[in-house]
Amino acid sequence: MLNLSTAAGVREIFSRYDLRAKKKLGQNFLIDGHVLGKIITAANIRDGDRVLEIGPGIGGMTQALLRAGADVTAIELDKQLVPILQNLFAGEKLRIIQGDVLRMNLHEIFDIPSGGLRPPTPLQGGAMPPLDPQQETARSAVSDESFDGADPGEAGAVRRAARPACEVRERGSGETFSKVSPEKESANIKAVANLPYYITTPVIFALLESGLFESVTVMVQKEVAKRFSAGPGTKDYGSLSLAAQYFADATLVANVPSNCFMPRPAVDSAVVRLDILPAPRVDADHAKLFRTIHAAFGKRRKTLLNALDSEFPCGKPELAEILRSCDIDPQARGETLDIYAFARLSERLAESTGAMP
Ligand code: SAM
Repeated sequence: MLNLSTAAGVREIFSRYDLRAKKKLGQNFLIDGHVLGKIITAANIRDGDRVLEIGPGIGGMTQALLRAGADVTAIELDKQLVPILQNLFAGEKLRIIQGDVLRMNLHEIFDIPSGGLRPPTPLQGGAMPPLDPQQETARSAVSDESFDGADPGEAGAVRRAARPACEVRERGSGETFSKVSPEKESANIKAVANLPYYITTPVIFALLESGLFESVTVMVQKEVAKRFSAGPGTKDYGSLSLAAQYFADATLVANVPSNCFMPRPAVDSAVVRLDILPAPRVDADHAKLFRTIHAAFGKRRKTLLNALDSEFPCGKPELAEILRSCDIDPQARGETLDIYAFARLSERLAESTGAMP
């Protein structure tokens, strides 16, 4: 079969099916076998593994996953590509679902009840972050072709569903890997994707919060990759860094220059692997924790006291007292707090203000 992750392979499929890359859908196809090999190795794909691939495109990565023995479920938004993929991979262990990954109930797709897994899915009440349009730029491809699939603006929209009821747990044990009881298992599915960049953040949150995956190996913009491992006080530190730390250990697998894609994007990329922890890193309810984190980073330039004031309307004197009781200077900025400080703060805010959902 034609090697789909080469420039010649992509050209052949484009000409055979009269295709053009759709910039609005972030269609930059990987044409570097070496990078693809690194992704498959990093994701540790074994015979029989269940793998979710987001955005198979014309199937370059899908082909590599199938060759490694994976049982692949692929979600593709572009309607035009679905029959092509069905044709190319007829008879293989591939299930293709057409649609927007952000609108999918991943538990239903894998036939796994959501109650048995760690956190709720975002669509069922997870703490979805607001999309930051400045950090979430689409890959700007050289070609700017017509678009006739679903509406990517809609696909990129972040949906914030009703939050789950929160109960206040015992405060965590500080800088250790404390466990949220009871510890629950993931469904041992691996997520692998060369992500369309305009939806990177909500997709990563959805995957992390679903509790379905043992690992998430993704190609993202290099700038976004830096955010996964950024620490307090750095410019890349934000809610994505904290989400990655809360749910996973992050490893940078490879930096990927723009010439590894067709069409060639304007920015470089990187592959990151997130190994999901058996239990979240800190003993704090994730909805409460991320409400506090989003409040703190939503007004990044403001002091914590001012940033939290609009989200927790209990009055500044009480807020200042809560911050001090957590050993946090009310005049500090959110970007200076590590995940343990955020965990303490979110629990204290819930206890003291009763303002949590
Ligand atoms: N996996 C292929 C590769 O590595 O060459 C293609 C990756 S390309 C960067 C991103 C793919 O995601 C495209 O095929 C695009 O159509 C698809 N896509 C874009 N938005 C999507 C969405 N909301 N849900 C599912 N797939 C989407």
